[in-house]
Formats: sequence, structure tokens, C-alpha cells
Amino acid sequence: MRYWVYEDRRGDRATIHLAHCVHCNHGQGKQGTRPENGRWHGPFGSRDGAHVAATATHRAVHRCGRC
Ligand SMILES: [Zn+2]
Repeated sequence: MRYWVYEDRRGDRATIHLAHCVHCNHGQGKQGTRPENGRWHGPFGSRDGAHVAATATHRAVHRCGRC
């Protein structure tokens, strides 16, 4: 399993996704990601690793509701 973290600059949150999640699309996002909106961190080999990276953004850590 691969995990990615989406750091949302506008929403001030970091969301953990599985790589194959439709919202993640292996770190591409649904329609591409605009750098002014946020950025992807990853991939990570475990959810724990993704969680550490999400926490390191100092934003509120969320888990995706879809994956
Ligand atoms: Zn997801």
C-alpha cells in the first residue's frame, strides 16, 4: 500500500489518502493540483509514515472520508 498526504494551504489541513483513491490519483489529484492551493507529500509505504509527514506540516491532520 502506498499513501500520500495532501497539504491544503487554503483549508489549513493535511489529509491522508491511499494512492489509488480518486481524490489522490497517485499524488496527482482529480484535476491536477495548483501549487497555490496545496501540495502532495509522498509516496509513503505506511499509514504511520504518512501520518508523521502530515503532522510535520503543522496543519490539522485528517483522514480521507473516501479511502
Ligand atoms: Zn482519499
